[in-house]
Amino acid sequence: MGFDATVVRAQFPILDQQVNGKPLVYLDSAASAQKPQMVLDTMSSAYSQTYANVHRGLHYLSEASTDAYEAVRGKVAHLIGARSEKEIVFTSGATMALNLIAHCYGNTNLGEGDEVLISVADHHANIVPWHLLGGRVGSKTVAAPVDADGSFNMEQFKAHITPRTKIISVPHVSNVLGTVFPIAAIAALAHENGAICIVDGCQGVTHLPVNVTDLGCDFYVFSGHKLYGPSGIGVCWGRSEIWAGLPPFLGGGDMIDDVKTDRSTYAEPPLRFEAGTPPIVECIGLGAAVDFVQQIGMANLRDHEMDMLRYGHQRLASVQGLNFIGMAADKSGVISFTLDAAHPHDISTLIDQDGVAIRAGHHCAQPLMKFYGLGSTARASVGVYTQESDFDVLAEALEKVNRIFG
Ligand code: PMP
Repeated sequence: MGFDATVVRAQFPILDQQVNGKPLVYLDSAASAQKPQMVLDTMSSAYSQTYANVHRGLHYLSEASTDAYEAVRGKVAHLIGARSEKEIVFTSGATMALNLIAHCYGNTNLGEGDEVLISVADHHANIVPWHLLGGRVGSKTVAAPVDADGSFNMEQFKAHITPRTKIISVPHVSNVLGTVFPIAAIAALAHENGAICIVDGCQGVTHLPVNVTDLGCDFYVFSGHKLYGPSGIGVCWGRSEIWAGLPPFLGGGDMIDDVKTDRSTYAEPPLRFEAGTPPIVECIGLGAAVDFVQQIGMANLRDHEMDMLRYGHQRLASVQGLNFIGMAADKSGVISFTLDAAHPHDISTLIDQDGVAIRAGHHCAQPLMKFYGLGSTARASVGVYTQESDFDVLAEALEKVNRIFG
């Protein structure tokens, strides 16, 4: 299917509204993307026509619900180029997925003095689970810097690898800088050094075609709500051979093989890692979101977003006193900036009066803010429905902020 921006945008009912008397300009998709009608319809019909608990019942609705839930594994596997749908573990989101890996892989494979190498540009979701792991097993978290312009620096990164490095965990795309990390090279580096490579794909799979097999990483995680799906559902992809050797994360229904009062044995992956009633309809909604992006084509989606990003940079560059934070050559999804005249929180609050939604704050990336000597930035982020006029309105609203503070 060719890409028709107007047709795509019309599928998002929420965008067709006024905020503070102005047409909504939604530039906060990196925090959470809006949902197309087909996701809303799919979830509504799952609740109104096929809802029942999964994996347990032997009645019609339970089987229909189970089939719909399980079908999403195949859709996700196809989207990210996994070799098998059995490699797809559903979680409540990327945060849960990274905590799951830190527990299941980290507790088993890391010990006192072992190291987890991350980037200073990581989101807290890919930092704090490693600190918690350190509290359990005595491992350390080491962060490699990025260049001043936000580019990934391979030499610097390599310099942080030691014989104790057991895990390299990096973002595919930084949620603040937009920097695209060279995952294939990082995964190869990890393996040369006897480590595994984990990718926080929250801002990756949402903007770029992804093939985990080609990337060569060991785990790739993301959240459904940033991929036009619902919140409460996420994906933890891992290699079959790694999953096979890992103990469960949480215990309960659905993840067992046999339970006695004094001990239990566990199901094969992926169910071993999905204890309890899962977010059934959210998962089915994620399946519709995957269908949505597949129908558009990830390459078309990326090209459209790159056009919007180029236009956004060009348009915002004309705003007096605006400084871009993160100008790596390979950049995706977000434009972070500060304005000489006003604090990011004031910017965000003021431009909301013009119907413009952007993010302001530390973006759950406090180490990166400290690295740049900043408390916070403003961030405009793009999605499949972003249009050039969104940046025109943003630029005019920022000029207004300049006049108020100037
Ligand atoms: N990693 C990155 C790069 C993110 O942008 C986010 C969300 N802002 C997360 C992890 C955490 O995602 P969630 O809160 O959906 O688990």
